[in-house]
Amino acid sequence: GQCIMVCPTGALHGQDDKQKVWDALADDTKHVVIQTAPAIRVTIGEMFGMEVGSLVTGKLVSALKRVGFDRVFDDCFGADVVVMEEGRELMERLESGKDLPQFTSCCPGWVKFCESFYPSLLDNLSSCKSPQQVFGALAKTYYAEKAGIDPDNIFSVSTMPCVAKKYEAQRPEMDDSGRQDVDAVLTTRELGEMIKQIGIDIENLPEQEYDEPMGYATGAGVIFGSTGGVMEATLRTVYEKLTGERLEDFELQKVRSQDFNEAEVKLDEDRSINVAVARGTGNARKLIHRVLSGEADYDFVEVMACPAGGCVGGGGQPIYSGRDRWARMVEDRVARADGLLKSDGRKDIKVAHENPFVKELYDSFLEKPHGEKSQKLLHTSYTDRQLYTHEERYSEQKGKEMKE
Ligand code: SF4
Repeated sequence: GQCIMVCPTGALHGQDDKQKVWDALADDTKHVVIQTAPAIRVTIGEMFGMEVGSLVTGKLVSALKRVGFDRVFDDCFGADVVVMEEGRELMERLESGKDLPQFTSCCPGWVKFCESFYPSLLDNLSSCKSPQQVFGALAKTYYAEKAGIDPDNIFSVSTMPCVAKKYEAQRPEMDDSGRQDVDAVLTTRELGEMIKQIGIDIENLPEQEYDEPMGYATGAGVIFGSTGGVMEATLRTVYEKLTGERLEDFELQKVRSQDFNEAEVKLDEDRSINVAVARGTGNARKLIHRVLSGEADYDFVEVMACPAGGCVGGGGQPIYSGRDRWARMVEDRVARADGLLKSDGRKDIKVAHENPFVKELYDSFLEKPHGEKSQKLLHTSYTDRQLYTHEERYSEQKGKEMKE
């Protein structure tokens, strides 16, 4: 019989966007910009025979320039802006005590899962868009203005380890720049194929720097690609704003690399922030049930739909066959996540609020985090997509089992 798989996150309904991007690159009237997700720089090398987890940021930029992009920017700049926005939102919620825990919202697989199965938690989702969409909205407003380009002529591409990001870019509400904020999303596989199509071997390319003003990111923005990264990046900023001191992250190291973890971050004698991280929708369910039953009392929760490592093991990453593929998959995710931590370690600035380009963005354009302009451009709302109540789902399932 035929097996029909239904993916609750929409992650299996991706289309190939290579031709759309080639067409835009061939159109002289278009100014084509690309943002690269953190996971790409530690994965694209393996599509060209390099060791898994090789960090090839400069070579990736070089390759994208040769493919023909007018500007090569870093999605991690968008992640730094998300830290500013989501961090402010968390501070506001901690102060008011309302809608806690705050759940992260940068994984479209998780957002769709929450809309479909736990709509009662939609007010707990951070209203901040994901780095991809924050970047997209800024590229067609802030960047367009700064560069003196008509935003209608900007074609905005992103390259992601994720198929659900295609769905996210197409959500009709993602048009706060006055037009669709992101025009096309390429997976790691599609991008690797495009680079191969023009006959380049990434390994032998010289290194190039990202373009300004949306190409510089701190270590905080870079670690978004591995699970626990969004949490840690945001806490680095929130902790410093609330205590005036740098967060020593040894406690949060525990939060990384497992399917579920929790930690308490002490602010002072009386105050602390309780955090948890879940990877994979099964672990998310368990965590949510603990929250809803009152068994757990968290302030801030990160959920990533992809198990074991988050985006470094996303659905747009290279796929391998062979008997040892499962073992290899786990090893590869660890190697890629290590590559991202290496990248964080090499960055002089580790906290988003010290990114000079982020400061400039707020000084000259946004004014302040979670202010009027950012609320309009960088925040969004969610939709209740629940088809059944939990009771209906349960009795339907029971009915099926009885028939069988
Ligand atoms: Fe996409 Fe998976 Fe990352 Fe979520 S965890 S953003 S579904 S790659």
